[in-house]
Amino acid sequence: MKIKQVEAMVLTCQLEKPIMDATYTLPHRSAVLVRVDTDEGISGIGEAAYFGGPPMITKMIIEKELADYLIGEDPRNIERLWENMYQRTIKHGRRGAIIASMSGIDIALWDIIAKSVGMPLYRLLGGCYERIRAYASAGFYAEGKGLKELANEMESYVKEGFTAVKMKIGRVSQAEDIARIKAVREAIGPNTDLLVDGNNVYTAYEAIKMARRMEAYDIFWFEEPVPAEDIEGSAKVAAAIDMPVAAGENEFTRYGFRDLIINQALDIAQPDATWCGGLTEARKIAAMASAWNIICVPHSFSSAIALVSNLHFSASIPNGRMQEFDRNYNPLREELLVKPIKINKDGYIDLPHKPGLGVELNESVVKKYRVD
Ligand SMILES: [Mg+2]
Repeated sequence: MKIKQVEAMVLTCQLEKPIMDATYTLPHRSAVLVRVDTDEGISGIGEAAYFGGPPMITKMIIEKELADYLIGEDPRNIERLWENMYQRTIKHGRRGAIIASMSGIDIALWDIIAKSVGMPLYRLLGGCYERIRAYASAGFYAEGKGLKELANEMESYVKEGFTAVKMKIGRVSQAEDIARIKAVREAIGPNTDLLVDGNNVYTAYEAIKMARRMEAYDIFWFEEPVPAEDIEGSAKVAAAIDMPVAAGENEFTRYGFRDLIINQALDIAQPDATWCGGLTEARKIAAMASAWNIICVPHSFSSAIALVSNLHFSASIPNGRMQEFDRNYNPLREELLVKPIKINKDGYIDLPHKPGLGVELNESVVKKYRVD
């Protein structure tokens, strides 16, 4: 089997009302999908994270740079292809857009391999779970969203069946955020896990103070309390507070996670297969984390392809027990697949059983949002 073509598709949907976390304002939902075609008629689909830059740059890297290292190669030699892409781009790669672009290709290659043997991807990768507990990732800041609106929003996810919900903190004062957390805890009741995400906004001492103030509300984890580069600060926070620190969505490859893990900067690892180096690398990160008894709860905040890719990752590793499920408005997640990903009434997602990623793109939706 030989790779014939590598194509990236940029999809964008403008938001009527931007949403905000501690540091970013999100005016649109976009995705870079990757399609790899082979000479045997099997095609694979993947997604590359574009976060932090224009999606068109990611498309350019995939089509004008990385494709050259893939055309004519056997997609089943995935370790060799990964290493080749990594080494040939190393002078301007190692992190960022290059690794994210490689991630999308890597997922598409795994989709091809699993389809070629007629197996669901998570099973080909070792099949650890048939279903994964999902947490509703939402609770952003938005214009006109007060305590009541936030509480109602978070409560709605519990009514849908979610047993864990995540909200943003860090954009307003600690006192205002505590009022938001209190309102949400009262709305979701004592039996729903409540996660908070600081999106890298605090200094270590601010994060420690905030964690102490949050303790009364039984916080399941405190995500990215400090900047991604502040490994020592994250370790200081993790050692000082009585709730786990989750981190890693902004980190790349096993080398980046090695430094987080050996410095005890996180309690829960959040690699994202569309961002950290694909499924090939995510699984190495998970294996390394398992040696430190660290669970992996993959980040996912993009299209349905990103979500399903990370689900297969979660379901293929023993230390994967949960999956981020973004609930903010995003037609690229809700409409992109012929059969959209949904939770069961008990808050779990069943893994697709068809070969490969096990999903089918709704081509009319791709056409509707495609901008490249
Ligand atoms: Mg996050």
